[in-house]
Amino acid sequence: MIHFDNSYARLPEGFFTRTAPTPVRDPALIALNLPLASRLGLDADWLAGPEGLQMLSGNVLPQGAEPIAQAYAGHQFGGFSPQLGDGRAVLLGEIVAPDGARFDIQLKGAGPTPFSRRGDGRAWLGPVLREYLVSEFMAAFGVPTTRALAAVTTGETVIRETVLPGAVLTRIAASHIRVGTFEFYAARGDRERLRLLAEHVIARHYPDASGAADLLQRVVEAQAYTISCWMGLGFIHGVMNTDNMSVSGETIDYGPCAFIDGYQPDKVFSSIDAQGRYAWNEQPRIAVWNLAQLASCLVPLMGNDDEAVTEATRIVHSFPELYQREWLRRFGAKLGIAATRPDDRELVERLLNLMAAERADFTTTFAALGDGTARDQFVDRATFDAWAADWQARIAPLSDAPEVMARANPRRIPRNHRIEQAIAAARDEGDFTLFHRLDAALRDPFADRPEWDDLSRPPEPDEIVQRTFCG
Ligand code: AMP
Ligand code: MG
Ligand code: MG
Repeated sequence: MIHFDNSYARLPEGFFTRTAPTPVRDPALIALNLPLASRLGLDADWLAGPEGLQMLSGNVLPQGAEPIAQAYAGHQFGGFSPQLGDGRAVLLGEIVAPDGARFDIQLKGAGPTPFSRRGDGRAWLGPVLREYLVSEFMAAFGVPTTRALAAVTTGETVIRETVLPGAVLTRIAASHIRVGTFEFYAARGDRERLRLLAEHVIARHYPDASGAADLLQRVVEAQAYTISCWMGLGFIHGVMNTDNMSVSGETIDYGPCAFIDGYQPDKVFSSIDAQGRYAWNEQPRIAVWNLAQLASCLVPLMGNDDEAVTEATRIVHSFPELYQREWLRRFGAKLGIAATRPDDRELVERLLNLMAAERADFTTTFAALGDGTARDQFVDRATFDAWAADWQARIAPLSDAPEVMARANPRRIPRNHRIEQAIAAARDEGDFTLFHRLDAALRDPFADRPEWDDLSRPPEPDEIVQRTFCG
């Protein structure tokens, strides 16, 4: 029924361990992503029915699945952990969609694996709802990302600081291969597996790449694009450890992620990021740091000599220029400029500085540029007016400016306080109404829909979320 072709599970011993999901007591469907099911060529009626639920909760394996937990390592907050791996996720296999595209299907929260260490292998409802909403918003906006096919409750509790309802997320990804997957073999000096992994990634994600150096270049390009998307949305990933950076370029692992409300470039939400390593404006630099880790893994496959090091270094250093180009394209579009000139950077930066000085709401301010109400976002109207005069002069000859802006500036983002409210209602009352409203509204982030105005507006002072947690 599902067309599986599990290429990762065919890799030799050492890449993963075979591990089945642990069944749960009383699964119930929270949400099923029908457009994604259709994209994957899955039978939506079957998925929504009792057999589908058994699969989405990990109780029954679909035919063709070969469940595994993948091994990986990673730099976490700068420190190297040689042995991580899927501790609370089981990869069921790879689905081949009708158009031939290949996707991992993974159950997150499916129970313990050999990599769980002291963890229970489970997820509680909060992070599952958060990932579902945020990853699907990112996809709707065109940001490279893993997807959420379904969310189910398990009928079981998990213990964190308190007793919480358990849940499982079905995650879809181009793959779950991370920078940390390469680090796993590099740290062990296992050149043969490193080579096999590089070959696998090239075949799967960059089929026209000519070798390890080219692979590195493609990952650098993919990440430059993805990080520019994050910046344009005020998105803070929160845990950019190398095990949370996908080599496909997809945004992965929505833990303590959050979106900036009042613009503050060094904003941090994550409770575990005390030093601000993963602050909003640090993300491009951290991407380079992470890519440098990937580069050192790939050097042994590039000749392992001084020349290879020089080449790998050059490729990593191509990130800033690629990123700056994407950044200008993205922020230029937010001002209505489809074809940017180098001096547009200053125009963007002047606005951002103004926004930072007043902590203007990031999303509302950009959306308001399009309807002529941005001035209302500022107390210092004179400074805004001076900027707006230059901006107007710049876009006056651009007839497509309104449409360019409308497509670049979402009206709605997953507001932190709304996500928290949706999670609290689901956790405390079993009420998923707000979750479902958000799910619908965030799939359509651009349309001006009065019935969703409450989901668009910034938080009131007493609604502001100060801290987010890993789950
Ligand atoms: P993360 O911060 O979500 O990227 O997780 C880092 C590592 O901790 C990964 O290897 C996870 O598999 C593992 N992990 C996180 N939570 C749990 C849990 N509840 N049970 C087992 N392993 C976990
Ligand atoms: Mg992770
Ligand atoms: Mg996580």
